[in-house]
Amino acid sequence: MRFADKPRHILFLEPEGRNTNEYYVNGLSTSLPFDVQLEMVHSIPGLEQAIILRPAYAVEYDFAPPTQLFSSLESKKLENLFLAGQINGTSGYEEAAGQGLVAGINAVQKVRGEPPLIIGRDEGYIGVMIDDLVTKGTSEPYRMFTSRAEYRLLFNHGSAELRMLAHSERLKLFTIKRLHNISSKKQQIETWALKLESTGEGHPSWGERLRRGAAHGTLPGEFLAEPKQSRMRFSIASCIAAIWNASCGRSRNCAMWNGFRFRPESTICSFPVSAGRARSNSARSAPRPSARPAGSAG
Ligand SMILES: Cc1cc2nc3c(=O)[nH]c(=O)nc-3n(C[C@H](O)[C@H](O)[C@H](O)COP(=O)(O)OP(=O)(O)OC[C@H]3O[C@@H](n4cnc5c(N)ncnc54)[C@H](O)[C@@H]3O)c2cc1C
Repeated sequence: MRFADKPRHILFLEPEGRNTNEYYVNGLSTSLPFDVQLEMVHSIPGLEQAIILRPAYAVEYDFAPPTQLFSSLESKKLENLFLAGQINGTSGYEEAAGQGLVAGINAVQKVRGEPPLIIGRDEGYIGVMIDDLVTKGTSEPYRMFTSRAEYRLLFNHGSAELRMLAHSERLKLFTIKRLHNISSKKQQIETWALKLESTGEGHPSWGERLRRGAAHGTLPGEFLAEPKQSRMRFSIASCIAAIWNASCGRSRNCAMWNGFRFRPESTICSFPVSAGRARSNSARSAPRPSARPAGSAG
């Protein structure tokens, strides 16, 4: 049994909809026989009378040990074979899509005789996932939880294009116009971060004031006038708000992004983190697959 040492376990009763009395019991994944499931549910205070409409069940699948892959997702055993997704022991749509993207790009890079795309653990969740898989392997269906990423505070979709810029440029994954726009956004963030961090007209710096909760509208007129797009302005101000001040240089608990230091409790931009979701809503009652290496018994 996992977590046998814990005195309690949290379950979430998630309503399946507004007009139904069905609940998805989040946190009670199991493939035990129906009569055992019934006993388990009835032993939970408040659920003594609950009726199970659809019992939990498991799906098993074979996988190839991902430690047999290079970080490019090419097989160490069979040159030119790239593996991605469930066959590498993962579970999940995002996990499969992330690996598929990398394996596809790297298959093309191989054909072209050019270096592969390797995303670092400090650059994005895909990098963490592939590094975990190829270096540590997995003994159960691997899911990309935010908690696995050391630099998760810097990862969110608002900063993805900035974090991936060097790769996108090298691999020519975007149009020149789009690359130019991303570069210019990055440059503006860096320029304004330095400016607002170092000036404040005799008061704490504008950066510090942002961190203390000052509204964007109170920033210097020069900043508010340019750039004109409010979304860009929001992005820049959020990044600055996340930047830790100079004293962070002495703290081990701060993260770095392009030379800037960030508060440990902040994200680069205040967009919601999207990776690491356990399940998509469209398949709320879906069973969680369990993985076993190809060739193993049972
Ligand atoms: C019931 C169920 C519910 C799930 N619910 C969720 C969920 O809510 N959220 C979530 O994130 N994940 C969920 N998952 C997991 C998710 O579906 C998988 O992890 C993911 O789809 C795997 O993608 P993949 O591309 O690696 O493999 P697959 O989607 O299995 O694609 C493999 C493809 O290869 C094809 N193929 C196989 N053999 C051959 C061959 N010899 N020649 C040619 N083609 C072949 C197959 O037909 C298939 O189309 C669920 C899985 C199951 C089983």
